Amino acid sequence: MRATRRRFLKRSAALAAGISSLSVSAGGQTQALAGAPPAGQKPLVVNHDLHTHTLYSDGAHPIPLHILEGRAFELDAMAITDHFTPGSKIHDSEAEFDRYLSEIERERSGQHDLVVLQGAEATALDATGRISIDARHAARLEWVLCDLGGYSEGTLAKTPRDKTRYVENVLRTYLGLCDVPYLNVIAHPFNTGNTNPAALPDDYPRPLLRELAEKMAAKGKVFDVMNDTIYWFSRSGIAPRALTAQYVELMKVFVAAGVRFQASSDDHRTGLGNTRWSQIVMARAGVRQSQVVKPVQAK
Ligand SMILES: [Zn+2]
Repeated sequence: MRATRRRFLKRSAALAAGISSLSVSAGGQTQALAGAPPAGQKPLVVNHDLHTHTLYSDGAHPIPLHILEGRAFELDAMAITDHFTPGSKIHDSEAEFDRYLSEIERERSGQHDLVVLQGAEATALDATGRISIDARHAARLEWVLCDLGGYSEGTLAKTPRDKTRYVENVLRTYLGLCDVPYLNVIAHPFNTGNTNPAALPDDYPRPLLRELAEKMAAKGKVFDVMNDTIYWFSRSGIAPRALTAQYVELMKVFVAAGVRFQASSDDHRTGLGNTRWSQIVMARAGVRQSQVVKPVQAK
């Protein structure tokens, strides 16, 4: 069952490049949110949430309710990605990790409404791309994310006072993460606005961003467009719409390089399936439908 699903995911990722048109039933709404798409391009349709939390880490709901909500909201797919970091349940206890996987398996197998991926969110440990999950645990998962967080030395932990060094460290970390073969997704990239100094999207030099974008495309690493990105800039003083504009410009570099994208709520704050902002910026950055990850269930 698991092996089949994994194979299917890999195949769907490869196939995603070939998908050019999908249902546009939500087109009116999407268009109203995002503005008219470029000439000849259909409105982008994204109906998944591939970064969410449950009570297995700092989410709000137990797995059964979480999946019921995904079904009620008529999502196509969701990924459950509880934290796999030092001190978290599924990281520290093998028994909890087993229980987590079997609970997702039990709840998802009793329904056919939506694809549910067994995932986790690891964290970067330093600026070389060392990561808090090993290959053995990752092999049991279908969707592995990695973020910058409180354990990420040289970026969000022990942040350099010099902003130039800080942004270089962030890019170096992400370049290192690209070399982790079992990593699927970089979670809410450039969440660097609540540090001192703050690094805003405009602070990242374009040539270095292009280098990262090309490596992410080559290595198949997915860019997570997280709905609550403003959270990570809430202490920086930047106005929300200014952040949106800067983030869109940054994303365009990744769009141009052919990187793939996912939308997410990072649910524990703004609600499962709430990807309104993600969809706005994906449309404005010109993300093509073929660049949107589309997990498909085997049956
Ligand atoms: Zn998260």
